[in-house]
Amino acid sequence: MIEVSKIRADFPLFAQPENRDLVYLDSAATTHRPRQVLEAIDEFYRRDNANPHRGAYRLAERATTAYESARSRVAAFIGAGRSEEVVFTRNATEAVNLVAWGWAERHVREGDEIIVTELEHHSNLVPWQMVAQRRGAKLRFLEFDQAGNLDPVQLEGLLSERSRLLAITQVSNALGTINPLRPFIDKAHAAGALVLVDGAQSVPHTAVDVRALDADFLVFSGHKMLGPLGIGVLYAKIEHLEAMEPFLFGGDMISSVGYHSSEWNDVPWKFEAGTQNVAGAVGLAAAMDYLDGIGMEAVAEHDRRLTRLAVEKLAPIDQLHLYGPMPERGPVVSFNLATIHPHDLATFLDQKGIAIRSGHHCAQVVMRKLGLAATARASFYLYNDEQDVERLVTGLLQAKDYFKKWL
Ligand code: PMP
Repeated sequence: MIEVSKIRADFPLFAQPENRDLVYLDSAATTHRPRQVLEAIDEFYRRDNANPHRGAYRLAERATTAYESARSRVAAFIGAGRSEEVVFTRNATEAVNLVAWGWAERHVREGDEIIVTELEHHSNLVPWQMVAQRRGAKLRFLEFDQAGNLDPVQLEGLLSERSRLLAITQVSNALGTINPLRPFIDKAHAAGALVLVDGAQSVPHTAVDVRALDADFLVFSGHKMLGPLGIGVLYAKIEHLEAMEPFLFGGDMISSVGYHSSEWNDVPWKFEAGTQNVAGAVGLAAAMDYLDGIGMEAVAEHDRRLTRLAVEKLAPIDQLHLYGPMPERGPVVSFNLATIHPHDLATFLDQKGIAIRSGHHCAQVVMRKLGLAATARASFYLYNDEQDVERLVTGLLQAKDYFKKWL
């Protein structure tokens, strides 16, 4: 069981005078960083900083070792067979775009189909819309039901010999839906399609094993899992990386350059053009050490318990409408309270020191399907506790009272 007071003591942001009273319920957007991560970044810059892969001197070798050790750390965290299957990107969004340009441009032809789900974040939808437009391919949608769940049987009806890819999130950032991926992945594979898993909301919260999932591609961001901003990951099976073209060109991604043409470096470096975010990679590895130190099972159990408690406490509030599957869901609770606009609600709660998200959550297809412009969203992580849920409930009741003259 997680001892939240001990965990919170590791996060300098919560100790700042201006944040002492903060109830932070927006970890689905970005998390905070423990001092262990901040110190790892600081130490890299103080002790080992140099441009990796290039210098012959010892300092540059240390920078290279720090960067490549971080790659191995990421591979171990997600159960990849080889560290070469890990490509560092800026974030999950860039990782999806790398697959869209590097793989889909080569493998998706006119008349082919890409299947996405209605639950996708824009990051795992818009790049596929662009591929479909560029390649003359068709997008097909796996729909969610009233509860916010997807059905693998419906996928069977969408799959055909023209299906090239299924792009599917493991956990929805808008509704919290947890997709049990294996049946979806197996069906897509049986039809000859590859599968890209959006792990932005799952890798931070639960143990993810790419080999057990048999995922072809997995993307996620460091900043949603206690790591720094500006570092993300594309995992891909080695044979897919070998069959992909780079999408950024320049220094470090080449093996030889002539006047008019060039040859590429090996995988994964051919996808990492220019000087990379080494400190970001080091910080992400430290975040993974931190999470593993607590244990991903304990993290998942903590998130589950708090989310269940939040759903339990919010559901009985009169005129509060909860969206998404009940009670099992990722640590994300989307709701609306009477006719109060979510932005007004979020602004009101902010006056009480409670930070929640409001808007379409970069999931406008979800909103369209539900006939909503926006929702309010509270999301939880390992530094939240029962008191945070209580403060949210109290804040919502106060908001209802405050806004009642306009309702
Ligand atoms: N997918 C999901 C499910 C997300 O929640 C997010 C971030 N909100 C992303 C992708 C994109 O992540 P990033 O902005 O770090 O690229």
